[in-house]
Amino acid sequence: MKPPKRLFLGLFLFVSILILSLLLYFGYSIYSPNLAIIRYSFIAIVVLLSSVSFFSLLAFGYMFLSILKGISLPFLNRLAEKSVTFLYPYILQLGRLLHITQDKIQRSFIEVNNKLVESRKMQVAPNELLVLLPHCLQNNNCLYRVTGDPYNCHHCGRCVLDPVLNLLVKRQVNVRIVTGGTIARKAVKMFKPKLILAVACERDLSSGIIDSFPIPVWGLLNHRPHGPCYNTSVSIDALNEILNKILKPEEPLAQSLLCDCASFWCGR
Ligand code: SF4
Repeated sequence: MKPPKRLFLGLFLFVSILILSLLLYFGYSIYSPNLAIIRYSFIAIVVLLSSVSFFSLLAFGYMFLSILKGISLPFLNRLAEKSVTFLYPYILQLGRLLHITQDKIQRSFIEVNNKLVESRKMQVAPNELLVLLPHCLQNNNCLYRVTGDPYNCHHCGRCVLDPVLNLLVKRQVNVRIVTGGTIARKAVKMFKPKLILAVACERDLSSGIIDSFPIPVWGLLNHRPHGPCYNTSVSIDALNEILNKILKPEEPLAQSLLCDCASFWCGR
């Protein structure tokens, strides 16, 4: 079952309104203190809170419309990304106060993020996409080191990397199997992708999405039937479905390249 997007959006709105309330409080307090220094500090706080509150409410409205109507505007995309990056730690804190688990908020955030990425209707060439996979997809007893080079996999079929890598090689996309954020950042620097498709757990995906701004990241959660970070798995159908959405359709071979001579020896 997909996590509800409204959880993250609700918390986002709550934090924005909280900032607005602080703004009103400080705005009101400007008139009470006698000391000029306190008054000026309050004015500075009011100006700061007004900007944060204005932009976060604008970002909320935009994200809401984007998810509902699929609207995408480059300037507002940036604003939504910046606001989410800024408010994300406060949203997690608020969730903790309200006894909402971090996983739940992060799942909701990933859903909201994916919807925003989808609303951009981006389609990239295979070499413009980077697929990042977590190393825990590999069978724990496997002797082959796939983190440096995914092509070291011998396709023995003991873990999900076998069909996953088959699919990714077929789609000719860049792929890296990573052990953490540092290696993932290195891969992003190396491939300079226009779009990232990342498979990971809630925590790694949400921090990866925020770290990678402004490069959009489509996040896909892994399955953890044996607990976290151990022999995890991922849905091949979901992966394929996302690839179909974000990869440009393959162009048919130009007619001029097709040979119509009937020679048996002709290799074309
Ligand atoms: S499929 Fe590849 S990575 Fe998985 S256990 Fe076999 S050789 Fe190792």
